[in-house]
Amino acid sequence: MREVIQCLIDWLDSEPSDEKGHRILRALAQESLKKAGFDESKRRFTADEIVAAVGVSIETTDPKKWIDWPGSLKKYCETREPQIIEFARKRGLSHYPQPDRKSTKGGPGRLTTFYIKAEPVPEITEEDHVVVDDLAGSNAVELKANYQMTELGEVKPSWLASWLFRHGQVELRQWHVWGLLGWLATIGVFAVLIAYAGWLSLSVSRPVTTSDLTLLISIFVIPYGAWVTIIKPWILLLDDRIVVAHELFTNFYEQSAQFELLRDGDLRVIRLVRYSAACPICGATIYLEKGEPDYRRRLVGRCYESPREHVFSFDRITRCGRLMVDR
Ligand SMILES: [Zn+2]
Repeated sequence: MREVIQCLIDWLDSEPSDEKGHRILRALAQESLKKAGFDESKRRFTADEIVAAVGVSIETTDPKKWIDWPGSLKKYCETREPQIIEFARKRGLSHYPQPDRKSTKGGPGRLTTFYIKAEPVPEITEEDHVVVDDLAGSNAVELKANYQMTELGEVKPSWLASWLFRHGQVELRQWHVWGLLGWLATIGVFAVLIAYAGWLSLSVSRPVTTSDLTLLISIFVIPYGAWVTIIKPWILLLDDRIVVAHELFTNFYEQSAQFELLRDGDLRVIRLVRYSAACPICGATIYLEKGEPDYRRRLVGRCYESPREHVFSFDRITRCGRLMVDR
């Protein structure tokens, strides 16, 4: 049992987050680990105990409402269960951790409790990949792509980024983030200043030369270039949590990779990973690419063999994708 609970803690560590579900799971796992040697009946915790372990003040919140088992916690665990199962499987465990609730009919001294149980890791079945024969009738059977994420450090960064992503990820503390924002602002201000200086030197009336034309063009090109190549990708990463990593950052031989942002309090983790899946239509590999021009600002899974037709949606939490056909 100790290994199973430890497995949950390690999985939580591998996916840092400051979401409520994440914090509750961690508190439940840590409290359970302290009592791992005991029988299951001793490893149950009331809502009050969990909320106290999370570190939320009981005076201001109703613990039961805050935990919200059916609404948030259960859903949170269910959608991430495939990831946890995969994590346990890679460790060679026969069981994986699953939180559960024991509800009572109420009454004094009978409180609803939460605990972690060990569920057997399911066997890998052939039915996971539904093979569809005729695409014409595909409305009946939904084509699904199951994405897998590479191990940390599996995607090799280019020499340009290798000092940053030595272990596949880089951890940013608060001052790093401020430094980064300051750096971006400096670049932005510089680009605007250069353009402004160019504009000033052009407003002196004199015969137009070819160097003036070059200057005129660079007035627009420099700020635009700085925005597109340096500032915008960072803003998109902070906003969208996952973006396509530019080829400058990955090894020449690597397929498309992504930068993913995880946040836990004031810690930010950027990791270089690759999500891929087997194409349920043709069996080739699906890689994540930009959704443009059909799906603006979305990452979609594109089949390596048929990138414009075998297009799948992508959800980084459920790691599932559906065939996108609305055109
Ligand atoms: Zn395909």
